[in-house]
Amino acid sequence: MTKNINEVIKQIESFNPDTEADKIKSAWEFTQLAHTGQKRFSGEDYAEHPYEIASILASWKLDDDAIIAGLLHDTIEDGGAEREDIVALFGEDVALLVDGVTKVGELRFKKYTEDHFTENLRKMILYMARDIRVVLIKLADRLHNMRTLVAVKSEKRGRIARETLEIYAPLAERLGMGSVKGELEDLAFRFAYTKDYEKLVLESKTYYKEAEEHIKKMKHVLLRHLAEEKIEARVHGRKKHLYSLWNKLKRDGEKVWDFDKIHDIVALRIIVDSPAHCYSALGIVHAHYKPVPNIGISDFIAQPKPNGYQSIHTKVFGPDKRIVEVQVRTEEMHEQAEYGVAAHWAYAQAKTSGASNEMLNKGVAVEKEKLSWVKQLVEWQKEFTNSKDYLSAVKFDGLNHRNFVFSPKGDVYDLPRGATPVDFAFTVHTSLGGFIGSAKVNGKLVPLDYKLKSGDVVEIIKSKKPNGPHRSWLDFVVTTVARREIEKHKRQASHG
Ligand code: MN
Repeated sequence: MTKNINEVIKQIESFNPDTEADKIKSAWEFTQLAHTGQKRFSGEDYAEHPYEIASILASWKLDDDAIIAGLLHDTIEDGGAEREDIVALFGEDVALLVDGVTKVGELRFKKYTEDHFTENLRKMILYMARDIRVVLIKLADRLHNMRTLVAVKSEKRGRIARETLEIYAPLAERLGMGSVKGELEDLAFRFAYTKDYEKLVLESKTYYKEAEEHIKKMKHVLLRHLAEEKIEARVHGRKKHLYSLWNKLKRDGEKVWDFDKIHDIVALRIIVDSPAHCYSALGIVHAHYKPVPNIGISDFIAQPKPNGYQSIHTKVFGPDKRIVEVQVRTEEMHEQAEYGVAAHWAYAQAKTSGASNEMLNKGVAVEKEKLSWVKQLVEWQKEFTNSKDYLSAVKFDGLNHRNFVFSPKGDVYDLPRGATPVDFAFTVHTSLGGFIGSAKVNGKLVPLDYKLKSGDVVEIIKSKKPNGPHRSWLDFVVTTVARREIEKHKRQASHG
């Protein structure tokens, strides 16, 4: 094995001095053992795959458990490991993450029916709500698989690439992970639409080069004027990803690609240290390069995109009267735009570990963070159903027919429409159904046949002694699990 786990540990220590290096090392040894003798399509040792995933997760600044779960993510499913071993050596939390990744991995998108797609996306959201790290590990897994897709048999590549474009790239976008989305799309583009990909690589070359030269000139001028105004700034060119370039070129359905219409093939990006300086920098840009009339300025700082993206975008006349897009943002907005959810996660972690002497506080902080994610997911779900783009591509009716309800702790449960607190109790645990004393929804007592709505927080108040299940509940329960358990109990009661 050519991989050295100390490289990953070094990477982790740069943002997390409390990392347990020994635990990471032993997870790596465990992984190598579990995959002994296994090879990837490329011929390299299988364990190189989980190693790369751990490295990606470390670059996203995730916590030890997530990185360990990344190392172990295939050891049960594809390797020789047992779940009990993972629990014994690395704890239940890591084992739960591995379970989650395996389950998300089972969501295959072989059939391109809309129902299928919706159902799988829904499940994905659900896993995401339970623990966002599961989806981040899955994204890292997919990213590495895409980076090595060339080694896979050609007849399989197309399906994997399309699946990436349809599910994983949009998911990364939803999570605000711009750089992951862009890389996934470009890797998939090559195998999903090979002819167009090759044509675009060839035809776009001169346009990229030309745009880069314009940007270089502007960079020079702007850096000088920013320095004069005492604004600390980084300025660089951002190349548009091939896949989004392709989408833009063929947007109007024209056969011939018109590159002259694309103003942001390479955009100029200015990164400053505060939001106030974003506006000053914008002023400096407009003082030296006239803004293009009628295209307008988009202020995503004042009005962030739904996934949290913030920046100011403007279009100006650059050298040779060519239109150039300029984007201005702070360092923090930049992190957020590139790493989205992962950046949030790392930030929350840093904050909570900073307060580590107060264990109680820490617990509360982590719990709150979890809850706010859950709230955001509910928001996203609404957005999914309103968004025209998505509606035209797929039907999200599946989402409308389900209810996402929450336990007081913030766990998410997915119930069909018409579900009641009794359905909820049986879904949480079949044994809880026998101890239903009463039920509260959003803090208020409700009858047991109350119809739950998405977003409800449901609390079952347990009876001291077994209190059911009651036969009469069959009149209103809608889940199979509740119906089955109540009927089972009815049979047992009549026999005994
Ligand atoms: Mn994998």
